[in-house]
Amino acid sequence: MTAVIGVLALQGDFAEHAAMLRRLGVESREVRVPRDLEGLDGLVIPGGESTTIGKLLETYALLEPVRDLGASGFPIWGTCAGLILLATDVGAPQPLLGLMDMTVERNAFGRQTDSFETDLDIDGLPGGAFHAVFIRAPIVSGVGDDVEVLAKLDDGRIVAVRQGNLLGTAFHPELTTDARLHSLFVEMARAA
Ligand code: GLN
Repeated sequence: MTAVIGVLALQGDFAEHAAMLRRLGVESREVRVPRDLEGLDGLVIPGGESTTIGKLLETYALLEPVRDLGASGFPIWGTCAGLILLATDVGAPQPLLGLMDMTVERNAFGRQTDSFETDLDIDGLPGGAFHAVFIRAPIVSGVGDDVEVLAKLDDGRIVAVRQGNLLGTAFHPELTTDARLHSLFVEMARAA
């Protein structure tokens, strides 16, 4: 079955996600207004600045329709800022989709480790460790019962989660050449 994957294209590195999907031979569509959501099988929310993306989701009347889709089982994958937007709690007021029962801490790494790369074992991802790129990344500081933890740093901090058809990663798979997480998400979208 073919799938069409939307990439939220309000701000951030949406072009890199679209390029990765193209590499996999998967059709993608940039989403900027509500009608762009029609007929999609899944949606990627890219990294960028979560406060900006959240405000633009409100401005373009996308916050409610995306929230409704996510709440009804539609597959959504948030990377970095996208992960932040999926959370129910980020400890400060900013527009959120609030779909995943988790607390996220923004910019959780100090200045010296502002950006770093590390190899991660990700549950359910065959083929060995995933080289993960973190850029002013958040961490997941608490999860509810429905949230499955897929990956942690060596110090135990949570950096990849799944709740039903919602997927969240604190790092940027679209900035590497490893397409396994994109493939996983496309499979989730096909299966949904
Ligand atoms: N620091 C950004 C935020 O809080 C996220 C960074 C990213 O997406 N690379 O929204």
